[in-house]
Amino acid sequence: MLLKNFRPQSKLVTKTTLVNKPKFPVIDAHDHLGEPFGGGWDKKPLNELLDLLDEAGVTHYVDLDGGWGEDILYRHLDYFKAKAPERFQIFGGVDWSKWESMGDGFADWAAGRLKAQKDAGAQGLKIWKPFGLHVKDDKGQLVKVDDARLNPIWEMAGELGFPVMIHVADPVAFFDPIDETNERWEEIGANPDWAFTSPPFPAFMEIMNGFFNLVKRHANTIFIGAHVGCYGENLDWVGKMLEDCPNYYIDFSARLGELGRQPYTARKFFIQYQDRILFGTDASPHLDSYRLFYRFLETDDEYFNYNTGENPGQGRWYVHGMYLPEDVLKKIYCENAKKVLKIL
Ligand SMILES: [Zn+2]
Repeated sequence: MLLKNFRPQSKLVTKTTLVNKPKFPVIDAHDHLGEPFGGGWDKKPLNELLDLLDEAGVTHYVDLDGGWGEDILYRHLDYFKAKAPERFQIFGGVDWSKWESMGDGFADWAAGRLKAQKDAGAQGLKIWKPFGLHVKDDKGQLVKVDDARLNPIWEMAGELGFPVMIHVADPVAFFDPIDETNERWEEIGANPDWAFTSPPFPAFMEIMNGFFNLVKRHANTIFIGAHVGCYGENLDWVGKMLEDCPNYYIDFSARLGELGRQPYTARKFFIQYQDRILFGTDASPHLDSYRLFYRFLETDDEYFNYNTGENPGQGRWYVHGMYLPEDVLKKIYCENAKKVLKIL
């Protein structure tokens, strides 16, 4: 038998709690609705989506797909926001490819586009992971996350009241050599372009320290660090950034695998930073995914798959629930997001 075919089945007999409805209404602050990650809901009847969200107990939904480009932003504003404005927020983005032709005027131009996106109905800014890894300036040089030339963009986001949902670098193992010690080896094997081994890529901490500078420097702009602040492997580090930057929040979408393998530390972290954490799944709308997140947050179930598929996707381990107190759950499910996303 090859090691890749090894699928041990746990013989552990412990309880399994089904949480069909969350204890409080849920705001999904990090998700997608189109392709490639959102399940193609922009091609399905809207009623089906609203029924699914109702059944999952999700009252509001942030669709980040406008960050891919303004054509998608406007399409999703038409398809979702215009028809059910009280249920959706759509975030816009920055078209980095224009830097080459815009030269020195790029940042002011991009800031101007944010204004136009807000006029069209966008309610936030999504920055994808190529920032810090692939985005280049007009000279063909890799752009650092805290490059001061981009200040007008972040300042404009603050002026417009746009929260900036940002994902840089993470996960840390994608920067390590791809060998028998890499804990995400199977995942990188299945997705070779997810490897950012440095060199040639910048080191993980170089990007993260730039991210810290960026958020600290733009204190009037709200930033939301995606996926446990882009460093779910090191909650101590994320906590320091939350302490240092009052304008900083995080979501924990797509990172049950990280949190649930350090359940004592994660529980303490969630209680300590209960005012700074937003719910999000990043799994597109699926009942099973939502229920998995509810189980993880609400129960003390032990050693379960953090994925809805047959195998855990991010690494060969299982997770433990955090059984958060009710007042903390309420903040994380909806109260914090209401504040950050200005939902009445
Ligand atoms: Zn996402």
